Amino acid sequence: MAERYDVLVAGAGPAGLAAAQAAAAQGARVAVLDAQPRAGGQVWRHDIRHAPSSRAARSIRAGLERPIAWMPGTSVVAAEGDALLVQTPNAAQWLRYRSLVIATGARELLLPFPGWTLPGAVGAGGAQALAKQGWPLAGKRVVVAGSGPLLLAAGATLRKHGAIVLAICEQAEAAALRGFAAGLWRWPGKLLQAAQLRLQLAGVPYRAGTVVRRALPGPNGDALRAVEIESPRGPEKLACDRLAVGYGLLPNMELAHLLGCATRSHGAHAAVQVDARQRTSLDRVYAAGEACGIGGVDCARLEGSIAGLAATDTEVPVNLLRQRDHARAFAASVQRTFDLRPPVRALADADTLVCRCEDVTLGMLAGHADFRGAKLATRCGMGACQGRICGAALAELGRFPQAGCRPPLFPARLSTLAHSESNA
Ligand SMILES: Cc1cc2nc3c(=O)[nH]c(=O)nc-3n(C[C@H](O)[C@H](O)[C@H](O)COP(=O)(O)OP(=O)(O)OC[C@H]3O[C@@H](n4cnc5c(N)ncnc54)[C@H](O)[C@@H]3O)c2cc1C
Repeated sequence: MAERYDVLVAGAGPAGLAAAQAAAAQGARVAVLDAQPRAGGQVWRHDIRHAPSSRAARSIRAGLERPIAWMPGTSVVAAEGDALLVQTPNAAQWLRYRSLVIATGARELLLPFPGWTLPGAVGAGGAQALAKQGWPLAGKRVVVAGSGPLLLAAGATLRKHGAIVLAICEQAEAAALRGFAAGLWRWPGKLLQAAQLRLQLAGVPYRAGTVVRRALPGPNGDALRAVEIESPRGPEKLACDRLAVGYGLLPNMELAHLLGCATRSHGAHAAVQVDARQRTSLDRVYAAGEACGIGGVDCARLEGSIAGLAATDTEVPVNLLRQRDHARAFAASVQRTFDLRPPVRALADADTLVCRCEDVTLGMLAGHADFRGAKLATRCGMGACQGRICGAALAELGRFPQAGCRPPLFPARLSTLAHSESNA
């Protein structure tokens, strides 16, 4: 028998937690699920060595306070009507809802370049997550590269865990960054956050207009030992032990695609299309946070609160809507500033692996008109990540637009699939 909730929230990041809190405050029967074993999403990911900030701890506690049903380690694999089929490490079940809030957040955009699959080279957000989970970094020389505000956050986390951060290499040009900094007074909270991060990274050079062109192995060829960078000063080689490189974030759209929500374009990718009250194109389905476009933690919380109120048919205070619009204006300014420059899209050559799950190079994709054809002929996107990394990279490189999604969203057990016949 499927459990039924007034409001079901998919994702326990800042947006989902705020939505749950707002809906529960209206007396609704609320459940929050997340694929991760702990709540907090990307920004408030559990750190095994360092206590969370008081804001993170407070927000997580408030978002899961009783009577909210909290379902950790629970992934959505399929959907039908007003129900989601979810899988936990041991079981599967259908969850029915009156209203659904999609708060599935974002993931990192990784772009292929020669050497990006060498041991020691990881995503910037990936490095941050690994550091929080105990990746040994004490005394390791790390280059942080790519684009966007996440580089500063990742650099600060890596340093806190003992890494020697050699440089932050930002692809955006200095003029764009200066313009962005000059407008930050409109968002004093963000200005303060940027200043705090710079303080935590005191002495670390922040190099604008700089791109990692190649990661180089040591003499045994087995692990990263240096990177070649291209900056306004010309090409350089930096010896290092680790490279943390990410080119910004993109919305997690699998659940929204599966349900058939209308989308809008977010650069080369898609984001859920919502109205002022976070309503999607589907009746009683709402979306909040980075699934609606990359906007940062404050925006995610505001949108979550709006979605939680709207999902319980509660009037949304005008002030909340205004604050959300202001936060979205910041997001637009970030997007303009860190727009990827053409050299970044020309880093991969024909021999560069694009799909690391299935060992497919860029050259092997020549002649294929769409992702489906490429997939059938080369197995590109058919590995463990199911195209989440290579599909997004290829879309960003302008090779194939990303298509929709088919169930199951994640690799699922046979017993889970057997459940799909029994939506009570
Ligand atoms: C790797 C990474 C690191 C980041 N680090 C920082 C940082 O240090 N500082 C900062 O200010 N911002 C950081 N961000 C940006 C951050 O994503 C946002 O500011 C904020 O966390 C967005 O909140 P959200 O609730 O929209 O999404 P998220 O925090 O991304 O939460 C979404 C949640 O949904 C869950 N989920 C997704 N799909 C499913 C599914 N099908 N089934 C079940 N659960 C699902 C995910 O497990 C996740 O917990 C980071 C982003 C990424 C991708």
